[in-house]
Amino acid sequence: MMTNAYAWIDQSLATIHKAGWHRSMTTIDRPGAIVQIEGRSFLNFASNDYLGLAGDDRLIQAAIAATQTYGTGSTGSRLITGHRKLHRELECAIARLKQTEDAIVFSSGYLANLGTIAAIVGKRDLILSDQYNHSSLRTGAIVSGATTLNYAHCDLQDLRTKLTQQRSHFQRCLILTDTVFSMEGDLCPLPQLLDLADEFSCMVLVDEAHATGVMGKTGAGCLEHFGCTGRSLIQMGTLSKSLGSLGGYVAGSTTLIDFLRNRAASWIYTTGLSPADTAAAIAAIAIVQHEPQRREKLWQNVALFKQLIEQHSLELLPSESPIVCLQLPDIETALRVGQTLKDAGIFAPAIRPPTVPTSRIRVTIMATHDREHIEQLATSLSCVV
Ligand SMILES: *Cc1c(COP(=O)(O)O)cnc(C)c1O
Repeated sequence: MMTNAYAWIDQSLATIHKAGWHRSMTTIDRPGAIVQIEGRSFLNFASNDYLGLAGDDRLIQAAIAATQTYGTGSTGSRLITGHRKLHRELECAIARLKQTEDAIVFSSGYLANLGTIAAIVGKRDLILSDQYNHSSLRTGAIVSGATTLNYAHCDLQDLRTKLTQQRSHFQRCLILTDTVFSMEGDLCPLPQLLDLADEFSCMVLVDEAHATGVMGKTGAGCLEHFGCTGRSLIQMGTLSKSLGSLGGYVAGSTTLIDFLRNRAASWIYTTGLSPADTAAAIAAIAIVQHEPQRREKLWQNVALFKQLIEQHSLELLPSESPIVCLQLPDIETALRVGQTLKDAGIFAPAIRPPTVPTSRIRVTIMATHDREHIEQLATSLSCVV
């Protein structure tokens, strides 16, 4: 009997629909605090472009100039034909921003996590991972083949218990954590976590995707925010959020980076970053370092939003970042609130399981929002919830 080998996909999609988990894309014209969706203007509270750099003319001009000089593609892997002077310039700029010895750029943050985790731990090793870590950390843990245990979100007591019970059964141990949690907006307790890692001789990999450019006096991220600059650990991040480009990076010691160049498969066997993306990221890092006023405006906007929301006594998840989430009881309410906001010209979509454990509206504040934008969001939220 012949059966259609692909028929299961229809059934699987039907299940996804039934659970209310089906997603589709929204077409947005170009990045900014105000965006056009299907011919209508929306206030954009859904972007990772915290500093408003993805549409900045200096990044655009840098990308154009690099394309004219180096062409569109880098034509090969970094170890064969794909390495340009520009890539090294970017890696040095990242290392300077992070105050590490060196850095390496990957094609995306996702690939940076996969390649790095799989390169530094394996079958005989242990990974301890915050339960709310980003998908790329969790997938990296699976790909590595290491035994992986999740610890309760930001719960160092639980982490200590698991280390005490398990650490001695394994060779190397790696702790994985987001620094700014992407779907809640809270921060990992970094200094104490690093102390615990030292005590049990564990490596630590922190994901600074939402922290770089945003946290810390110079925008270096959560290490700077917590006064942990210079401590030994592995930092990764993305060029695609506040840096407005595309790509990922790892920053750390000279030996770590040299090791990754020799062992991270997701770096070795893939094409180098495009010249346009590379040059845009270099321009963005310069702006992060030379225009602290962007970060100041961002934090003013965050403070204003939280203050207005408190006045309306709405329930927010704990947040210490420009990611602010409004907790909602179920998927239906979240979708309804998301739709009502959309009807009011505000783009702040519902985030729901399986991406997060509980339904919520996730708001991201940008440096390029005006006071009126923030006020309009707060007023609309107070009306619909
Ligand atoms: C976005 C994100 C990534 C992935 O970065 P990309 O460059 O978009 O692949 C990794 N970790 C976290 C926490 C993120 O939010």
